[in-house]
Amino acid sequence: MSDWKQECVNGTATFGVTCPFCGYGIYPRILAETIESNYKRHYLVQCSSKGDDCRKHFFVTRERDYSLSTHTKIAFKTTVFPMELLNGYRIKDEIPSDIRQDYAEANNCKKIEAYRACVSMCRRTLQNALIDKGADKKKRLIDQIDAVIKDEQLRGIAHSTRIIGNWGAHEQDDELKDVDWEKASATLDFTWSILDYIYVQPLKLKKIRDSISGKEEDDSE
Ligand SMILES: [Zn+2]
Repeated sequence: MSDWKQECVNGTATFGVTCPFCGYGIYPRILAETIESNYKRHYLVQCSSKGDDCRKHFFVTRERDYSLSTHTKIAFKTTVFPMELLNGYRIKDEIPSDIRQDYAEANNCKKIEAYRACVSMCRRTLQNALIDKGADKKKRLIDQIDAVIKDEQLRGIAHSTRIIGNWGAHEQDDELKDVDWEKASATLDFTWSILDYIYVQPLKLKKIRDSISGKEEDDSE
């Protein structure tokens, strides 16, 4: 038999998962287990989150991952069904709620392989963030980007997001076919860089500045 350890102690799993319903990281209660092979097991589990008393049932598959295993440690790939979707409330709250929801939706579109919808949502996220930061609502996205984003490299990233997002939004001959996993992933990363630059970094910087401003005199040498 395999060297796979028992993964259940007193009814509770020894591995952690994120509940697809309430979003809490938990050690689920194991209700049933089937062993497919020495390398793969399936569990029917119940959420054990005390946060909002979720108690929902879902499935977990655990598979040995040889690319990550070493001779001292067995690594696993853990998959949860139904798939966990990203909730906007779990994204940094420095970002306005509407924009977080748009970004979460873009993420979820990628997870279900809706790549065109993903890049369209990225474009929308970008545009709403720019309007929130003072861009003229009536102008085109191309001009809104130039008006708000001063950093040259980031402006290039924003324009790429705009261009790929357009492929998703408008029917344009065969270019639609070009939005694949790779482009959707890159566009999501680009969108996050822009949200990070617009919302997250300025607050982080302010916090650090506030915390060192009182000590400046001591450190002047
Ligand atoms: Zn739950």
